[in-house]
Amino acid sequence: MGGDRRGSAAKEQAIARGLDRLREVLRARNLKMSSVREAIARAALAYEGHFRVDDLVRYLHASGVREAHMATVYRSLPLMIEAGLIQPALVPNGDGQVYEASFERERHDHLRCTGCGLVVEYKSETLEALQREIAARHGFELEEQVHELRGRCRKCRRAGASTPPPGSRRSRARTAERSPR
Ligand SMILES: [Zn+2]
Ligand SMILES: [Zn+2]
Repeated sequence: MGGDRRGSAAKEQAIARGLDRLREVLRARNLKMSSVREAIARAALAYEGHFRVDDLVRYLHASGVREAHMATVYRSLPLMIEAGLIQPALVPNGDGQVYEASFERERHDHLRCTGCGLVVEYKSETLEALQREIAARHGFELEEQVHELRGRCRKCRRAGASTPPPGSRRSRARTAERSPR
């Protein structure tokens, strides 16, 4: 079943555990683990970094899973989220929700550059504890934490204070690092 970019045994075992978790969620809903569903879940678990639905579809097509269409992937998202395989990673920006694999991975938050779209991950135990404490104080049990800090990265700040405000042209992550004016 190979073909994943990193075929380390540990990663393969983690993927197998993730698939088991998904099977439980499917069973509870009287749904079956089809081969497409399994391929989508494998791709999501193996994906390095953040992805949009079209990124995942491209990844699947590149690994030979032709029958994974946008609609098919969209339908499997809620199931994968419920199973804890993936989570919404960033605050929606108008250009599609961004997800990332979350299964057996440590929680983290993001910094996002409003200039070039650069996303930086960071971990803060203090912030984690604070978020839990705030939720508890208001009687909430946390299900999802999308905490994002937005600003301008070092490169964009260096590119000049006269850069026009973002919004007119939304670039994907790590592109157009230096567009003059
Ligand atoms: Zn930037
Ligand atoms: Zn992330």
